[in-house]
Amino acid sequence: MTNALALISPQLQLKISKRARRMALRLDSRNHIVNLVVPARFSMKKAETFAYEHRLWIREKLAALPAPIPFEESAIIPILGRNRKLAITFHSSHKRTLITLNDDNMSVTTNQEYPQSRIIRFLKNEAQETLTNLVHEKAALIEKPVKSVTLRDTKSRWGSCSPEGRISLSWRLIFAPWEAMDYVVAHEVAHLVHMNHSKDFWHLCAQLSDDYPSGKKWMRQQGHTLMKYGVVTMASTTDYPD
Ligand SMILES: [Zn+2]
Repeated sequence: MTNALALISPQLQLKISKRARRMALRLDSRNHIVNLVVPARFSMKKAETFAYEHRLWIREKLAALPAPIPFEESAIIPILGRNRKLAITFHSSHKRTLITLNDDNMSVTTNQEYPQSRIIRFLKNEAQETLTNLVHEKAALIEKPVKSVTLRDTKSRWGSCSPEGRISLSWRLIFAPWEAMDYVVAHEVAHLVHMNHSKDFWHLCAQLSDDYPSGKKWMRQQGHTLMKYGVVTMASTTDYPD
């Protein structure tokens, strides 16, 4: 990144795109950056001017994002409806990264200086197990077959259901309160019967949820905060091995 762009915001990144026809600014809320997308043939001078003219937009968008909570020592992470404190023990002699979850803590013993990607992998596995079980439990209540349960890292859609019975869910639901996660699963399972949002659909969704009004409300008001966990801030992106 050029100095001029860094001065506008250290979270501004230049992204050269073959498909782009013109310059554009795009907020990447997951990574807490703004991409300045430019076509393959572009003038650096024009790109800098463009970013400078939109500097307030860039700063406002970034400031409006919830503060990121990286997976660092002592971070408090809500996992499956309980706040857990992250305890990381680093030692180069550890053979591998070992992660355990108990009622109050997530303990990580590791030989990795940056175990974030291991932590994410662990949480995705936990999410896969819990969400898959929950889907099958609810689907069994209405005797509907489920083809597959796939976890994704989507920004805006927390779940989807295909007409063939393939359900996709965001692994980040693991950070949501129980009733919110339960509601999203119930919502997608209800789509196995009704591929719409009709009255009948919502009636079934309510039957399949523990507390659907609170869950729905939480997702609407707080859903975006699920993106803030494990965010790699710009300062820590250097030397970030997978
Ligand atoms: Zn829906």
